[in-house]
Amino acid sequence: MEKWERLERELEELKSRSLFRRMTVFDSGQTAVAEVEGRRQHLFSSNSYLDLCCDPEILAYTGRILEEYGAGSGGSRLTTGTTRIHMELEDTIARFKKREAALVFNTGYMANVGILTALAGKGDIIYSDERNHASIIDGCRLSRADVVIYRHNDMDDLEAKIKAHPGRRGIIVSDGVFSMDGDIVDLPRLAELADRYGLLSMIDEAHATGVIGATGRGTEEYYGMEGSVDVLMGTLSKAVGGEGGFVCGSSTLIDYLINKSRSFMFSTALSPATIAADKKGIQLIMEQPQRVRQLQENVRYCCQALKERGIEAHSETAIIPIIIGDEGRAMRVMELLKERGYYISAIRYPTVARGSARLRAALMASHTKEDMDGLADALRECMELAD
Ligand SMILES: *Cc1c(COP(=O)(O)O)cnc(C)c1O
Repeated sequence: MEKWERLERELEELKSRSLFRRMTVFDSGQTAVAEVEGRRQHLFSSNSYLDLCCDPEILAYTGRILEEYGAGSGGSRLTTGTTRIHMELEDTIARFKKREAALVFNTGYMANVGILTALAGKGDIIYSDERNHASIIDGCRLSRADVVIYRHNDMDDLEAKIKAHPGRRGIIVSDGVFSMDGDIVDLPRLAELADRYGLLSMIDEAHATGVIGATGRGTEEYYGMEGSVDVLMGTLSKAVGGEGGFVCGSSTLIDYLINKSRSFMFSTALSPATIAADKKGIQLIMEQPQRVRQLQENVRYCCQALKERGIEAHSETAIIPIIIGDEGRAMRVMELLKERGYYISAIRYPTVARGSARLRAALMASHTKEDMDGLADALRECMELAD
């Protein structure tokens, strides 16, 4: 049909460049060994780093809340959608991140879009790291502020760009742990620049919460700089094991967002059961820091296992990128690994730059040494076969 010709052409083009995407169907929860499209696979691509998605204590509590409050929330947070569980979750997040107050959004994506559009507008500037998550990029665009992109984690470049716009009101925004590289923001210098030039600092803790810092409190704890970020954002969908996004900071910030943030105001609240899982997930991270230590230990072990087999691997976070380069080759390695029972996602353009396709290994606290040695062996074999 005439109408669809352009779309069909674009899809063909994606296929010819190994950039066409489809979904993988799971028949189990997110556990170290999962049922993926009819096969048992060692799962090395889930963001449930602390295995909280399927934790029995969380499931039991969530089940009770589901019975008591029902399946849906029935309204936005400002109408009928706020239950006692929502308030308890926000208190728990504020305590965990050592802040006055916290606010939960339906997703991390909606949190970034809602925060940036509320805090910045025409005439303001947002300084954004070139490798920030897509939800930050979209928030920047929707805010209608001027957006200045600085080189990845390069604080000299950031300072030069700030100096080129003297006296402008604005925000510096960065991932805490970068989602496709697994590296950590230079927070000491970023926070210092924000203070020196009177800008707000905003850090996205999606992959830092529950992962870095001695007790999993994230980037600030990692650097021993608790309380130094103005706008601390994160998600409940990764290490915490549930769903939802959050922001925490001063009560002024939170009151402002409740009144001004459109993605908070104009969407139905998450269900009480989901919120209950989130709350229990954070409580378990606080009560059981050994989960975080085990994950950190696994990261060290896995990087070492890969290095011993001649594969470059460095990370202090749950994300270990294995750079392949060519998109087609990355897909071939991924398929070969699947045949051997190891599921790792290949990441391609536009998620990362063209020609920097990679396998993104994500670790979980429950991975055993045998799992990680098995992965390293399989990876070496498949990388050779894919040449
Ligand atoms: C996953 C992610 C988000 C989005 O969070 P969701 O809860 O999945 O919408 C935002 N920022 C970063 C850095 C992420 O990795």
